[in-house]
Amino acid sequence: MVFDENMQLVTRCPFCSAEYDLDGAQVIGEENDATMVYITCSECESSIVAIVAMSGLGVVSLGLVTDMTVEDTKRFMNEKHVSSDEFLTIYELLSNNEQNAIKQLTKSSK
Ligand SMILES: [Zn+2]
Repeated sequence: MVFDENMQLVTRCPFCSAEYDLDGAQVIGEENDATMVYITCSECESSIVAIVAMSGLGVVSLGLVTDMTVEDTKRFMNEKHVSSDEFLTIYELLSNNEQNAIKQLTKSSK
């Protein structure tokens, strides 16, 4: 995936404010116009999951702190075969419930 400069992707670590090296971002899942990426801070090694989605209103993005590993998130995405509808549901869940949402989603997929 190419990170478009116009995308308002999370670009700084919420913990130490270091600028993310997006070359190190791992794409966990892509569906139509939505992409979920996992980014680990090279400075403090904290991780976030970010979702970037194209909507009728333009590009929306959300980053959240996670203690899941990239393997956890990939397993979740693979098992679920996430559709674009589900992807948006996840996005909404994350918006409303922040880090608990993805934890719960991961648990229920095991
Ligand atoms: Zn950091």
